[in-house]
Amino acid sequence: MKIARIDVFQIDLPFSGGTYHLSHGRHYEAFDATLVRITADDGTEGWGESTPFGSTYIAAHALGVRAGLAEIAPQLLGADPRHVDRINERMDRALVGHHHAKSALDVACWDLFGKATGLAVCDLLGGRTDRPVPVISSIHADEPVAMRANVADHRKRGYQGHSIKVGALDREGGPALDAARIEESLADRRPGEYFLVDANGGLTVETALRMLRLLPPGLDFALEAPCATWRETVSLRQRSNVPIILDELADSEEAIVKLIAEDAADGIGLKISKSGGLTRGRRHRDIGMAAGLAMTVQDTVGSAIAFAAILHLAQSVPERFLRCALDCRGMVTVETADIEAPIEQGGVTAPVVPGLGIKPRLDALGDPVSSWF
Ligand SMILES: [Mg+2]
Repeated sequence: MKIARIDVFQIDLPFSGGTYHLSHGRHYEAFDATLVRITADDGTEGWGESTPFGSTYIAAHALGVRAGLAEIAPQLLGADPRHVDRINERMDRALVGHHHAKSALDVACWDLFGKATGLAVCDLLGGRTDRPVPVISSIHADEPVAMRANVADHRKRGYQGHSIKVGALDREGGPALDAARIEESLADRRPGEYFLVDANGGLTVETALRMLRLLPPGLDFALEAPCATWRETVSLRQRSNVPIILDELADSEEAIVKLIAEDAADGIGLKISKSGGLTRGRRHRDIGMAAGLAMTVQDTVGSAIAFAAILHLAQSVPERFLRCALDCRGMVTVETADIEAPIEQGGVTAPVVPGLGIKPRLDALGDPVSSWF
């Protein structure tokens, strides 16, 4: 099997909740998605997606995805998409870094690999686990009662995990507002539910300690990405007993190895496009398992194609390490593909069909913005 053609599509994905508020005053109304279709010489198609969470979340942006694809895509023509490690070496030779651009191509190759072998992607990643993958919501920063209602709404829809966004500036309400957000969001907690309190790097050590000291004892949550820098995170970790999960700072295998060597956190948010795709995501999964890290499998946001990649990787993570997977389908109002993966029995099960198991909605995608063949 050889890569014969690569097409790139662009589509805007409006946020389903109106405006998404994140720490440091960041807000997003829509997300600029890039979809990739790789066509093999036998006509088989593989799909991938890379949708950065705006341009202010990590060092990734939508125009960068498409500029990166222009550098990389011509170098993949003629390569065997089933040889995913060799594909990644070619991509690294064509462009240093820029994992968010490589991710869509890598995922499309895994989709082709599955179709070529008749196996679901999760089975190629090591085999599916025997339970549905619990899904986690993304509860943007808001008034505490509104966040509690948002959690309740997602609970009703079958979500077992909730990621509560905090990181208020002092003039917005500071640590007292964040503490109230946490208390309200956890107020109706059910047994088995998992809560992340995610500051997206928006706290200093000082504001994080003030927030934690305002909370009543016994609340069951892990604190994700409290601070923007490594030094602050390690300092906070030495002075609090709350479990810490790294996300934005755990952006490469080198960072995850450093995290383990310095015992800087108890888990990672594994995001497909942050990792650079499923090939590197698989490696992050394995390093995390070797170190006993808790993992949530996510992406920076995205539509059903991004979700399919999340779901297949999460479906391969053993229960004791996997907390939840992000169901980004609920975050956007436009669907780019259909996937038979409803939330039921506490989670979602990866489709038992070859590849990712998605059917792209070509009428929603329009014409390609770039093609190489
Ligand atoms: Mg996060």
